[in-house]
Amino acid sequence: MARLREWFTPPGVCCNEGFRAYFAADTVPPGTCEYDDNRCSWHWNQAGLPADAAEPKLYGAFSSENLRPASATTRGRRRSEEQLDRLVWQLLWHNYAGLVENIIWAVVRGEDHYFSRTQGQRLPLWPKLLLSRVRGRKPALRRDELRASIARLVAKGELTQVGATRYRLTPYVQQDAARAAAAQVQPTARPPDLFRPGGSVRSAALGGEGTATANPSNGRNAAAQKLALSPPPAS
Ligand SMILES: [Zn+2]
Repeated sequence: MARLREWFTPPGVCCNEGFRAYFAADTVPPGTCEYDDNRCSWHWNQAGLPADAAEPKLYGAFSSENLRPASATTRGRRRSEEQLDRLVWQLLWHNYAGLVENIIWAVVRGEDHYFSRTQGQRLPLWPKLLLSRVRGRKPALRRDELRASIARLVAKGELTQVGATRYRLTPYVQQDAARAAAAQVQPTARPPDLFRPGGSVRSAALGGEGTATANPSNGRNAAAQKLALSPPPAS
């Protein structure tokens, strides 16, 4: 007890130096008390720190008199909401087909299963979601907080509801709609039609058939290019 009191009280001694002496180590590890993340309170209170030195987070929390969580204030709550909105948006940015609310909730909370409404049971999240950078960013996220976030994003037009509880980024929905509309206007431009007898002459003359054949993922683009080049079909 006396030693502990001594460790707290000696003036002018680094806290880590106190540990070093107690454990009878030769030296403190290199870099000790040199950075914002590991500087002890004694070092923090020394003159001559770099001008941009930041108070160690742990020390800040320890000496703070404001013990209310940041989210309890209006500004803190707004910042927390904006952060959540960004996380939801990011998650859906990486999941083109959209996700149901239960999956978004599980990912943001850092869980590895979600409750599937359609199957009535908990199912494992798939690897892409387990590895998402969004995963576990808000472990204490409540259901009503997530719903409010989704509602904000829908109101802003950034998300579109596409099922009972499924949401997609609006630009993705629009992109698909535009593609579907283009395919309806010119059904003859679809890749399979290029291989009909009679169609091949025209597409061979325009070139690029090889591209469409060799790279199916480019088929749509190639077809769109052909569409631009083709004269309107004679009727
Ligand atoms: Zn120190």
